[in-house]
Amino acid sequence: MVKNHPQMMNNPHVTSPVGGFDVWRVRQEFPILKETVYGKPLVYLDSAATSQKPQRVMDAMSHFFLRENANVHRGVHYLSERATEAYENARVKVARFLNAKHANEIIFVRGTTEAVNLVAATFGKAQVGPGDEVLITAMEHHSNIVPWQMLCQEKGAHLRVTPINDAGELILSEMERLIGPKTKLVAVTHISNVLGTINPIQEIVKMAHAKGAPVFVDGAQAAPHLPIDVQALDCDFYAISGHKMYGPTGIGTLYGKREWLDAMPPYQGGGDMILSVSFEKTVYNKPPNKFEAGTPNMAGAVGMAAAIDFVMDVEHHSLVTHEHDVLAYGMAALSTFPGLRLIGTASAKSGVISFVLDDIHPHDIGTILDREGIAIRTGHHCAQPLMNRFGLPATARASLACYNTRHDIDALMAGLAKVREVFR
Ligand code: PMP
Repeated sequence: MVKNHPQMMNNPHVTSPVGGFDVWRVRQEFPILKETVYGKPLVYLDSAATSQKPQRVMDAMSHFFLRENANVHRGVHYLSERATEAYENARVKVARFLNAKHANEIIFVRGTTEAVNLVAATFGKAQVGPGDEVLITAMEHHSNIVPWQMLCQEKGAHLRVTPINDAGELILSEMERLIGPKTKLVAVTHISNVLGTINPIQEIVKMAHAKGAPVFVDGAQAAPHLPIDVQALDCDFYAISGHKMYGPTGIGTLYGKREWLDAMPPYQGGGDMILSVSFEKTVYNKPPNKFEAGTPNMAGAVGMAAAIDFVMDVEHHSLVTHEHDVLAYGMAALSTFPGLRLIGTASAKSGVISFVLDDIHPHDIGTILDREGIAIRTGHHCAQPLMNRFGLPATARASLACYNTRHDIDALMAGLAKVREVFR
């Protein structure tokens, strides 16, 4: 047990046990972490649902509204040019963050959910026909299931599912077997939001490409935790959400290889996605504008760029090492708790700890922890088929971000002891 639990926030001398990463300094950037809940210091263990935001993200967005706000791509006036520059610089920043070849491979969307729907509505519309197949996995979030299911229903195609083992790892031999000549797309999550499993995307892409199938990657949970290189992964599409990676809600991006973006029909019709319009014919704009109809979320893009700066500043590498330390500490601690069963024990795992405790309903666990100031998530986590795979209606889930510490795990353990007392 780590000593001096209450309030890392108030103790500048307490740092992470992992050398180099100054978690104290990092926590200072997140004003909300100073909140108290029912008189107790907030212990935020729900970052997989949404992460907290550093001050600089709020500052960047208010600076945009205070000093630069105008509509983009339209006006010749000074402010419109400033706003366009801010918005397009954000695109360049995302491209660098993902190591895309070019910024025009980055499309701004509302988040990962919209990115999946965009690909289903455009790529899917053009490429998937009757009898074709879309291959997903048993650990997908509903947002990487339902749009493909809707597409398959509409097209008379079939949704296939790669199974997982009891540790929550993909069975790659099964995946290989399931990819066939009719597979038009493999859609897979980089990191599971329930199990924390990190999937071997590079290997999956090689396997799929060898059989001619492109790969869509749901990176919602990976972007805040892993350095991402879409060229090294060689994936065809990669989706991320700003709010999961210290940025604002309502903004995210879809990366698509230029060849696909050129070949795909547009998503929505409207302003900005056109080169010319007459009542007889519309000539569409080039990517990325072709996929961005209407006034975009400019301040959101600026906020997302500031969040990327934050992640780069705290150094992705040391952040990963720190989070892994807290994860390993948490897994070791929770595995000793009587009656607790960990769900998701993959060897390659990121900062998500799902569990059940005897037959206590996860909602009861969450409610009792909440009274202790501890925020966790309970329920099916938008992954009902995965819950079915483990024969569970729900789990409790503690999820980590760069600002969490071993002290948060100690607080969770103390909270679980309270749960145990109530249900004794
Ligand atoms: N995929 C995964 C793995 C997720 O965890 C989430 C969010 N919980 C999503 C997709 C959907 O992301 P968003 O709600 O930001 O669109």
